[in-house]
Amino acid sequence: MASTKYIFVTGGVTSSLGKGIISASLAKLLQARGYSVTIQKLDPYLNVDPGTLNPYEHGECFVTEDGAETDLDLGHYERFLNIPTSQANNVTTGKIYQSVINKERKGDYLGKTVQVIPHITDEIKRRIKLLGTKKKFDVVITEIGGTVGDIESLPYIESVRQLKWELGYQNSIVIHLTLVPFLSAAKELKTKPTQHSVKALLENGIQPDVLVLRTEHTLTKAIRSKVARFCNVDNDAVIESIDLRTIYEVPLKMLDEKLDQITLRKLGLPIEEKPELKRWREFILLLHSTKEDINIGLIGKYTELPDAYKSIIESFIHGGASNSCKVHVKLIHSETITPENTDESFEGLHGILVAPGFGHRGIAGKIIATQYAREKNIPFLGICLGMQCAVIEFGRNVIGLQKANSTEMHRTTPHPVIDLMEEQKGISDIGGTMRLGAYPCRIKRNTIADSVYQSNEVTERHRHRYELNNDYLAEYEKYGMIASGINPETNLVEIIEIPKHKWFVGVQFHPEYKSTVVNPHPLFISFIKAAMNVNT
Ligand code: GLN
Repeated sequence: MASTKYIFVTGGVTSSLGKGIISASLAKLLQARGYSVTIQKLDPYLNVDPGTLNPYEHGECFVTEDGAETDLDLGHYERFLNIPTSQANNVTTGKIYQSVINKERKGDYLGKTVQVIPHITDEIKRRIKLLGTKKKFDVVITEIGGTVGDIESLPYIESVRQLKWELGYQNSIVIHLTLVPFLSAAKELKTKPTQHSVKALLENGIQPDVLVLRTEHTLTKAIRSKVARFCNVDNDAVIESIDLRTIYEVPLKMLDEKLDQITLRKLGLPIEEKPELKRWREFILLLHSTKEDINIGLIGKYTELPDAYKSIIESFIHGGASNSCKVHVKLIHSETITPENTDESFEGLHGILVAPGFGHRGIAGKIIATQYAREKNIPFLGICLGMQCAVIEFGRNVIGLQKANSTEMHRTTPHPVIDLMEEQKGISDIGGTMRLGAYPCRIKRNTIADSVYQSNEVTERHRHRYELNNDYLAEYEKYGMIASGINPETNLVEIIEIPKHKWFVGVQFHPEYKSTVVNPHPLFISFIKAAMNVNT
């Protein structure tokens, strides 16, 4: 292929229209037609990355193989496309300004006045084109966060305008998502918000090529042609995006709507291949024909916002489907758990997952949940902080180290069974300084980890500062909690398990970041299998 083609996805009227899912679905369809595709998210906030954001703000922070802390939409991209993203796939205004200001301090602008146009817009354009330069991808889809008309999105919209012109005919298109609300009093779907948001785009010099209309009711032909006429787009470029049972059905809906064909036509790309969606369709079929139901308690402290645990929840969907099982994830707030209400809190659960997290709040409830799972022989998966809780609980209640703790929670604990990693000592900046991204883990033979991975060495993604204190490892192993996964270079304990238990595993890494539709994560598959054998 001559050069990379660019697709820009913008949003109007409101946020939360599902730009990320539409982008991922279109990418899936193009991939299914034989094109290599990647997706990039541009976020208009000033944080350099979402790593410093409280999960209540934007939900989970997703981590890439190369250790970027990113927006959760990148998780969707990976789950749909089954290919890893990287640092370059998530750009924020903070990152853009940081590089421009660094250049200014170095004197790179040679005394020029540094301005939003052209310096900020040039940096945005450079970052967009970066993914296309190595000719690795036929198509780059760039999703612009925020809503058209927001002050903070303006430099991005201006960059898209310039790029569209620079790239030339058939080398880029703009897909604009809007909302068509239904007014129940008038019993009518309303197109005016769409017209206005396209006007806002036009004021900024951009004529969208395709409109995707989010709606709760089917759009008639008349509505579609009205929108086409008022917004200067082709009739067949008005696409309906109706609410569906699961996000995984969106690619098939977009296939019916011919979003992929319209896109390829407008980009001057051939539409030869029939889309290869066999495995995707099989997955949807499995999702809707499960034979069993189980309940998993997800113990966390951000349970008011399920997006804070997005990848974990999606991993249960993938792993559930491959077990022909519907996993009902019950979000349980760890601060509501007390030693007195455990039977009530965990009633009907077939498995307990203690979630990742930071800081002291909610830790007591997580430790109680861990103890309950261990003592009642309920399948248990502890992820990152969840694994650390399992180590603390075992230290206190099995080994008898009553004050066992993590130095994150109690700096001067007499038994620092979880301690700050050596390389973390002396770090004061909190942004981007954790142990991040993929590291190897060597698996011990004849353990649960071994039966899960069936491999001597795996790599998994990380996001943490603390680790199991190896000074205590021999003691733990003596009492029946073993290290079944170790980092081969540093000896950092990556996986712990209790061989005597039905299924009790703690992992210092985040398996949820690697679970995709076509590759459900083996730890989740195995955990679900164990939970399916529990009678409640
Ligand atoms: N707070 C813990 C640490 O930094 C766990 C982090 C996590 O759960 N992602 O090690």
